[in-house]
Amino acid sequence: MIVGIDLGTTNSLVAVWRDGAPQLVANALGSFLTPSVVGLDDDGQVLVGQVARERLQTHPQLTTALFKRYMGSAHEVRLGKRSFRPEELSALVLKSLKADVERAFGEPVSEAVISVPAYFSDAQRKATRVAGELAGLKVDKLINEPTAAALAYGVHQKEQTTFLVFDLGGGTFDVSILERFDGVMEVRASSGDNFLGGEDLDDALVKSFVERQAGNLPDASQPLLRQRLRREAQRVRHALGQQDSATFSLRDNGREWCEAYTQEQLRQILEPLLERLRGPIERALRDARIRVADLDEILLVGGTTRMPLVRKLVAGLFGRFPSMHLNPDEVIAQGAAIQAALKARDAALEEVVLTDVCPYSMGIETTQQHGEHFEGGRYLPIIERNCVVPVSRVEQVQTLHDNQREVLLKIFQGESRLVKDNIFLGELSVPVPPRKAGEVVLDVRFTYDNNGLLEADVKIPMTGESHRLVIENNPGVLSREEVAAKLKALEGLKVHPREQQVNTVLLARLDRLYQECLGEMREYVDRLAGEFQRVLEGQDERQIREHRSAVIQRLDELERGF
Ligand code: ADP
Ligand code: MG
Repeated sequence: MIVGIDLGTTNSLVAVWRDGAPQLVANALGSFLTPSVVGLDDDGQVLVGQVARERLQTHPQLTTALFKRYMGSAHEVRLGKRSFRPEELSALVLKSLKADVERAFGEPVSEAVISVPAYFSDAQRKATRVAGELAGLKVDKLINEPTAAALAYGVHQKEQTTFLVFDLGGGTFDVSILERFDGVMEVRASSGDNFLGGEDLDDALVKSFVERQAGNLPDASQPLLRQRLRREAQRVRHALGQQDSATFSLRDNGREWCEAYTQEQLRQILEPLLERLRGPIERALRDARIRVADLDEILLVGGTTRMPLVRKLVAGLFGRFPSMHLNPDEVIAQGAAIQAALKARDAALEEVVLTDVCPYSMGIETTQQHGEHFEGGRYLPIIERNCVVPVSRVEQVQTLHDNQREVLLKIFQGESRLVKDNIFLGELSVPVPPRKAGEVVLDVRFTYDNNGLLEADVKIPMTGESHRLVIENNPGVLSREEVAAKLKALEGLKVHPREQQVNTVLLARLDRLYQECLGEMREYVDRLAGEFQRVLEGQDERQIREHRSAVIQRLDELERGF
């Protein structure tokens, strides 16, 4: 059986082809969405999905999310005593989805079509294939996410068409313009913002709530409280999709803080963020040399496009309504399953992959001076995302201190203002003649070619000297032997039996609430947890089931009361 998988930054989904249509497969908790979160429990066993997500704040050292951002890089994540590569973490998510399908259909799953963002570089695509291999899946096809969306919406059935895919997920915004022509699907341009999604909207709402409470709240920077505020913000944001107003409330230690929000107020709060959706759209249209009027369709993808606010904004930007008869967070998995079915019949849709643009900005670390004050760790992009390769650009920087003898150029890839949030690629130490601060100027030239090679050339006009560093932009790709070794290591990891996951999720939730609550409420949670654990010890399936739903009901009530 071939499955279609949407390996998302926030959530992952799996679908199969059944009775002539794509069908999503639920996980052990009955949900189609499995959070892309991985963790270890205190015994070193692997936790994947909702249970790990519950532990993100309570066990930050043992839990990790958003690793898709690091695919194809050598960035490793420490969980307890172990260190994981991004493809290993992805493999654990894939494994869990694979197990869900095997449990649902009682058949082994050995092959998958996995979706990747259109802008994924060669290294990132390779890393995704490796993740599949590590999960025991043969991945003989990757599909671009916007192409998958097109398949789900049925756009590919038209002979010739040009359309735009607007994908706003949990932490990323992607715009792609595609063209179907002569039986081939081509991504004409892709653009976006790697740090803009539903979770940023939640942060903005939290900020507004905290401001409106003007100092009345307990310390909102405290991680657990912050997490609760964000969850509440998400609830309010989702609720405002169905109703005109919703109340943001926080209860802590017997006190309560409430604020009512209307749709219109939400719009005003989110306005600056929603404004940022405009730029990437314009850039993609410009890059593809296509006018809005030439687009045959606008497709909505990503959970955040469920918001009426976002839909209205899209309608306004394009002067027409987008296609929205499907669940936007499910379309990519559906499309991947359609591709899998086509593949089984040897009729897979042909795609042209976007390889002739530089997918990320690349630049260096700088220090900015504001009067007396120095701010280090700032990012200065030299080559900007989405420019056509090969490309060569130059920027000037100066020495910072009197009699400085060396400039250490640290090179990064990414879009963040601070280099710590970008991916480190390499460094080059350049000796400079000792002069007054700012007197020595360096010309830093970056040249990037189709093979993913980045060449950094530094010239010092004052001395005529130059230095050079070549960075292979895919140091992250594993060799065959490394893959084999990783596979072995992963197999050694014990994964919780899936049946138990409903219980571990609940225990994690109890634990989180215990940490969040104080006083009587905390004792109450403690009692619930103790009772539940005792029932678990009893190993009576039916009793556990009944007790579990009772506890869940009480916790739902409790959390609604927050
Ligand atoms: P990704 O592609 O990043 O893995 P998804 O497409 O699953 O993520 O989108 C996740 C985001 O969608 C979350 O920020 C979530 O709050 C948002 N979302 C899901 N459902 C809704 C809804 N009904 N209203 C508003 N936002 C929603
Ligand atoms: Mg997505």
